[in-house]
Amino acid sequence: ATPMSIIAGVGRAAEFGVLVRDADALQRASNLDTLVFDKTGTLTEGKPEVVTVKTVAGIDEAQALRLAAALEQGSRHPLARAILDKAQTQTLPEVKAFRTLRGLGVSGEAEGHTLLLGNRALLDDQGIATDALHDEIDRQASQGATPVLLAIDGKIAALFAIRDSLREDSVPALQRLHQAGYRLVMLTGDNETTARAIAREAGIDEVIAGVLPDGKAEAIKKLQREGRQVAMIGDGINDAPALAQADVGIAMGGGSDVAIETAAITLMRHSLMGVADALAISRATLRNMK
Ligand code: ADP
Ligand code: MG
Repeated sequence: ATPMSIIAGVGRAAEFGVLVRDADALQRASNLDTLVFDKTGTLTEGKPEVVTVKTVAGIDEAQALRLAAALEQGSRHPLARAILDKAQTQTLPEVKAFRTLRGLGVSGEAEGHTLLLGNRALLDDQGIATDALHDEIDRQASQGATPVLLAIDGKIAALFAIRDSLREDSVPALQRLHQAGYRLVMLTGDNETTARAIAREAGIDEVIAGVLPDGKAEAIKKLQREGRQVAMIGDGINDAPALAQADVGIAMGGGSDVAIETAAITLMRHSLMGVADALAISRATLRNMK
């Protein structure tokens, strides 16, 4: 193995907008067999939009939206942005006792009501029945939207279906990677039904869903224990432990600083084509050395 050709490979990658931390990273990249993708912001645009609002009988839609938006003022989650955008310029009530429940949702009190906003797992945990909206939850999720549920005073009140589109070049990039023989996996905190619908659109056959933020690194470890050489591709702060655990962490350009600092490879463009380029270059470089 000549160090010179590795250095040339790192340089060549840079021409493609792919920053490789060191020679070792390029070497490890050439041996990968499994690529794990974060969903939100990596496969998708990361710009979710509310597409449907559905309330239970007796709950006013505008009021449900006001209360949900009031809670989301305290959250930095991309889903919070979607609900705030939908509520637009309405003046929102003050929220007390606000809490973020990582990977689940948010809670607080406003206008004398106890509020809980998040996924079905969160409402299930709290013993809040979601039956009244089950059909709509399933319908939205199977179409690839994320159902965000609002409970008011311990009762299900509304569903916000939030859609985050795939990035334009995700599908062709994943096709390239599939053809190159990699096993492609989606890793997400979102629910299984939504995740599977988006994975189908993306051309990804394997889904690990409903994973809490702390569980992402563990999910990577599990694949490694099966003898896999794993890359994790992500953009968020909450992806950093999984990026560190992977044999090669790949950070999307424009993502969080923590992700970039942790990753062995950083893409200057926020495009999965960079992943295909990076891996092709790593293989070509190492092949020349054998
Ligand atoms: P991801 O893997 O997409 O980054 P997260 O772990 O951040 O997922 O969140 C998992 C799920 O928890 C979301 O899909 C959503 O259902 C729920 N959730 C988390 N934060 C919020 C929030 N601020 N508002 C509503 N729902 C939330
Ligand atoms: Mg993300």
